[in-house]
Amino acid sequence: MKLFDVYPINPINIVRGQGSLVYDAHDTEYLDMYGGHAVISIGHTHPNYVKRLEDQLHKLGFYSNSIEIPIQKELAQKLGKVSGKEDYQLFLCNSGAEANENALKLASFYNGKKKVIAFSKSFHGRTSLAVAVTDNPKIVAPINETDNVIFLPWADEAALEEAFKNNEITSVIIEGIQGVGGIQVAPEGFLQKIRSLCDEYNAVFIADSVQCGYGRTGKFFSHDFAGVNADIYSMAKGMGNGFPVGGIIISPKIQPVYGMLGTTFGGNHLACAAGLAVLETMEQDNLLQNAAEVGGYLIKELNKLEQVKEVRGRGLMIGIELPEELAHARKELLNKHHIFTGEAKPNVIRLLPALNLTKAHADRFLEAFVNVLNQ
Ligand code: PMP
Repeated sequence: MKLFDVYPINPINIVRGQGSLVYDAHDTEYLDMYGGHAVISIGHTHPNYVKRLEDQLHKLGFYSNSIEIPIQKELAQKLGKVSGKEDYQLFLCNSGAEANENALKLASFYNGKKKVIAFSKSFHGRTSLAVAVTDNPKIVAPINETDNVIFLPWADEAALEEAFKNNEITSVIIEGIQGVGGIQVAPEGFLQKIRSLCDEYNAVFIADSVQCGYGRTGKFFSHDFAGVNADIYSMAKGMGNGFPVGGIIISPKIQPVYGMLGTTFGGNHLACAAGLAVLETMEQDNLLQNAAEVGGYLIKELNKLEQVKEVRGRGLMIGIELPEELAHARKELLNKHHIFTGEAKPNVIRLLPALNLTKAHADRFLEAFVNVLNQ
């Protein structure tokens, strides 16, 4: 059998990693400034992570959700503590798309309404509801649910107010910082406006934190910068540091009914062990502070570079916009300097490294980047 041809062809075969470094089959070292697309939160093969998963694997890999699983409660408690959202309730699933799928569904159960507000260039995943609120024509299939979705221009308050007027809005879904859409930071006043309209019309504020959440910006949720609380936060990526863990946290105003949400694998013992290792390490190693400091340093240094058009983002979620003629820089970082970065647009480089990226590794990136720009 061959692979379904949807995967990019890149002959680099990464076989092992440690912290922010990864190695190919010939033992060539690469600096990982992409974190496997924001997934690697505490670094590759962190000893706490390996030990937690190994211990759990020796005890029990899986048992059905039909009985209580104490390690799920342990994870919920820890997440409440580290995120500061102690009064929220946790539902566990396996991916970002699934988290958003459940968030959208839950909102509609809650207020009985149907129309969802989403924003241009949004990315929320590839399952049916998640893709319906995603503004990316390449991945929308003819059977999507877009009849009930209102796409608004990014950060347009007047359009937002207008869309609420018929009182049919079940939820608003927004990334605090758009990731795939090019690292666009939501203006703080805009998030506050969403909060007040959701309150006025009994709609649900869904904060997609799959990419911009989990400490990446230096605050646990990027929406925290605006000082607003969303009703539901969706999470995945960094939650499991590579193990598939997703979830939503739900404000106490939305009450559960047995059987309304569920999944076979969500919150399994190994997923919870991975999730706990991440949160324990974030706490123990002060990773939010590191993300703010090393990310802030990178942003400051990048802003000094003449060839850079714009630097966007917060903490360790950074978009570097280059003039079109420098769009080859990303490829050169990889080929000449063995540095992985991400692409938001051909001329926008995305940095999403592990939250424990060191200043020395940030400097190694900056030096290589300056070298590429000057050639
Ligand atoms: N939301 C956002 C903001 C994302 O960036 C992504 C993945 N790129 C998703 C949702 C979907 O997550 P997953 O791929 O785990 O389904």
